[in-house]
Amino acid sequence: MEAVLVIDMLKDFVYGSLKCERAHRIIPNIKKLLEEARKHNIPVIYIGDAHLPTDPEISLWGPHAMKGTEGAKIIDELAPTEKDYILEKRTYSGFHETGLDLLLRSLNVKTVIITGLHTNICDRHTAADAYFRGYKIKVPEDCVDSFTEQDHIEGLEYLKRIYGAEITTSNKIIESWKKAHQLITTKS
Ligand code: ZN
Repeated sequence: MEAVLVIDMLKDFVYGSLKCERAHRIIPNIKKLLEEARKHNIPVIYIGDAHLPTDPEISLWGPHAMKGTEGAKIIDELAPTEKDYILEKRTYSGFHETGLDLLLRSLNVKTVIITGLHTNICDRHTAADAYFRGYKIKVPEDCVDSFTEQDHIEGLEYLKRIYGAEITTSNKIIESWKKAHQLITTKS
């Protein structure tokens, strides 16, 4: 079973205090991937910052996505549905004290599809923890981004080289779901 992780697609990361212009490129791609995931019963898991003022990141990046604020909300374009899961994090990693591992295991997920921001920061740290826990990793390169092209490209390269992540595209992933679905329907 695969699951789609949507990391830090929050108002502060797209429009607010940590605004990333390049995030706009990936919004329609993630939106389409999530719509198809839901159609194929692939779990969609949002993991976004919900910081406390004392969190280590705050002194480095300034206040962003503070717990309970508008900036910590998921952007309207990618609004979750009732079936989706929403977890909060306080570090770069989607696994660190968030309950993500327990959720993935209870859903029998073996492969995580990482989307969202940033390729070289939270996506990377989430990939590290996924790798340490034995998950396979897929990264659709049109669904992740960074502040700069260089950060993004180097981030992808690192994910591939260090965690064995399969760098792919949202269309390829959607195609694989459709194919698997076809196989099931022709068998029955
Ligand atoms: Zn943060």
